[in-house]
Amino acid sequence: MRNFITDQHEQEAVESLKRLVAKPSYLTEKEEGAPFGTGPRAALDEMMKICAELGFETYTDPDGYYGYAQVGEGKSIFGILGHMDVVPAGDPKDWDSDPFKAVVKNGVIYGRGVQDDKGPSIAALYAVKALMDAGIKFKERIRFIFGTDEETLWRCIAQYNKKEEPITHGISPDSEFPVTYAEKGLQQSYLIGPGSKEVQLSMKNPFNAVPAQAAYSGPKLDKVKQALDELDFDYKDNGDEIIVLGKSVHAMLAPQGVNAVLRLAMALDKVFSFAPLDFIGKCFKEDATGKNLLGDVEDEASGHLTINLSNIEINEEQTRMQIDMRIPVTVDHDQLIAQLEKEVAKYDLKYENFDYLEPLYVPKDSELVQTLMSVYHAVTGDNTQPQISGGATFARTMTQCVAFGGMLPGVPDYMHQVNEQWELDKMFTAMKIYAEAIYQIVGQN
Ligand SMILES: [Zn+2]
Repeated sequence: MRNFITDQHEQEAVESLKRLVAKPSYLTEKEEGAPFGTGPRAALDEMMKICAELGFETYTDPDGYYGYAQVGEGKSIFGILGHMDVVPAGDPKDWDSDPFKAVVKNGVIYGRGVQDDKGPSIAALYAVKALMDAGIKFKERIRFIFGTDEETLWRCIAQYNKKEEPITHGISPDSEFPVTYAEKGLQQSYLIGPGSKEVQLSMKNPFNAVPAQAAYSGPKLDKVKQALDELDFDYKDNGDEIIVLGKSVHAMLAPQGVNAVLRLAMALDKVFSFAPLDFIGKCFKEDATGKNLLGDVEDEASGHLTINLSNIEINEEQTRMQIDMRIPVTVDHDQLIAQLEKEVAKYDLKYENFDYLEPLYVPKDSELVQTLMSVYHAVTGDNTQPQISGGATFARTMTQCVAFGGMLPGVPDYMHQVNEQWELDKMFTAMKIYAEAIYQIVGQN
């Protein structure tokens, strides 16, 4: 197979990646023109500078939320979505080298952001640069869009979508090869109910993990223990406190975990008479597929609904539960929420939205997915099939957009970790895949 990438492209890509790593771009205090702090803004500016040097037209949002770099002509836009922000490095002493001074050792580049997402962004950028150097003309505009708030709240891409021209189709190199063509809708919400004088609970758990422990030290402890025994649920008995035990997994895999909060609530429901506890004990129970509450909600493209109910707070004024739902891609969101509202109302609970990310779905037999898959297969010889995911990339914020690379199967995942690193050989393979794919989608000889 032809290869547009030369040794010089590879070397220059590594040098440019070093320039980006040198701008520590984790979230800090907002400043003028730097809504997520001066670090993310500096990394964005550096990327725009690199793009301009390579011959792209560039535009930086004056408010500092995003920037884009464009080449080619035509009505349509092929978008390539990446992000210039990173997570903090933790204690630099835990690193073998300075996290913000990228070094190459034995063919591996080290530094915060080399995998997530400065490295893959640079790989895709130099893939297009290689096509430009080969004299390829583009029948559409290729537009790189770089956000600066991917690791927190995606406010950057929300601004882009509010202010700029939408892409026609595209990819996000912020995940794994081959293609992620479906990401479930992600709905995080609260269920709010009355308070209780009799039974109270206080805990703090994140939305996105199944809780492995739930402590209780309130009234009628002996009866609660008895209820747990009857239900055959494991717990640790510390005398005047018990800790119900479960098994933690990521919320997107909730049915594979054991939810300690639900188990505790089921036991409490046997002891106390309280409508919000009835909701767990008599309706939801332990089933994280949500079947008891909403019936079978599933589709062929992305599987079954999952619901992770990870936190219950009860005080004198209020009950507050938190749920994380991963909704199959073809299910009508608003209808599902209306059904949920109706069901929980039977237990004195009111639904309250916290955050919603729309699903991503580009069918497997679409031209985009087919082309990306055939190029991936031709370059690597690997037969891995396109993926679905309960996770989230920028791809879902735009139409006809899928996650595509930059990590090859089997590459160790160093994202968000100490000594973040990427084998240069793997990075260059990603460049080769991007160049051929983009050539086949928007190139003309
Ligand atoms: Zn990322």
